[in-house]
Amino acid sequence: MPRGFISKIQEAGVGRLEGKTALITAAGAGIGRASTIAFARENARVIATDIDQAALQDLADTANVETHLLDVTDSAAIAELVDGQQGLDILFNVAGWVHHGTIEDCSREDWDKSLLINLTSMYQMARAVLPGMVRRGSGVILNMSSVASSVTGAPNRFAYGATKAGVIGLTKAIAADYVGQNIRCNVICPGTVDSPSLQGRMRAQGHYEKARQAFVARQPMGRLGRPEEIAELAVYLVSEESAFTTGAVHVVDGGWTN
Ligand code: NAD
Repeated sequence: MPRGFISKIQEAGVGRLEGKTALITAAGAGIGRASTIAFARENARVIATDIDQAALQDLADTANVETHLLDVTDSAAIAELVDGQQGLDILFNVAGWVHHGTIEDCSREDWDKSLLINLTSMYQMARAVLPGMVRRGSGVILNMSSVASSVTGAPNRFAYGATKAGVIGLTKAIAADYVGQNIRCNVICPGTVDSPSLQGRMRAQGHYEKARQAFVARQPMGRLGRPEEIAELAVYLVSEESAFTTGAVHVVDGGWTN
């Protein structure tokens, strides 16, 4: 890339994702939603998918955004959606599920569900988009993990941490296999981010304020992250600005694991 390329794009007011098509899972709320809005602002054509039709409703009116129902655990639906696309330049795997508890709290059903939503879904999505990226000679895959993974152990995050560690391994393996084909694969590991599902988990603990304070207490910055802060890192990682980065773990956690 020529020197000064990025600054020239920015000066010209051209979006950093101009001409790119991006598919995002779990786009209806939280980090996926903020990323959809940020990618669209940078002029990507965004295929925003979610299992919840109502959550996608108002995104459908956003410029550059097209919405589709997609359950990331449904392999036939994944194949159908990806086959129907002209060319995907970017895949952002966001969907994930938190099981609260230790290994003893984790039934075989909880374990299987964690694997399916957090890890198998990313295998299915990446496997579906990669042949097209290989044919076109470029592509970017970005996966959502968490610092509760191989980065650090968090209490009561047994199945979540194990499967999110798997996301890091999956990312590094894809990055190693496809680096010669101009396809990059990176992973984001956030700390605690104030999203609707986090608020639901805090409510489910019975004492919302106490639960919130406990989450804030492990953040040295004394606050939770915002979905928009994660979305800006995602824009960087799927854009040409990060062209020299692949197979890397990107921690954005307010200093939690420092
Ligand atoms: P979220 O968990 O609130 O979920 C966002 C969307 O996921 C919802 O609109 C929901 O309908 C959709 N969804 C649920 N199951 C789905 C399925 N099977 N298929 C498709 N969509 C489905 O969003 P969030 O809290 O922003 O988390 C997004 C990702 O970031 C997850 O992978 C999560 O593990 C990870 N993460 C979140 C935090 C946090 O504190 N919020 C921290 C670290 C990592």
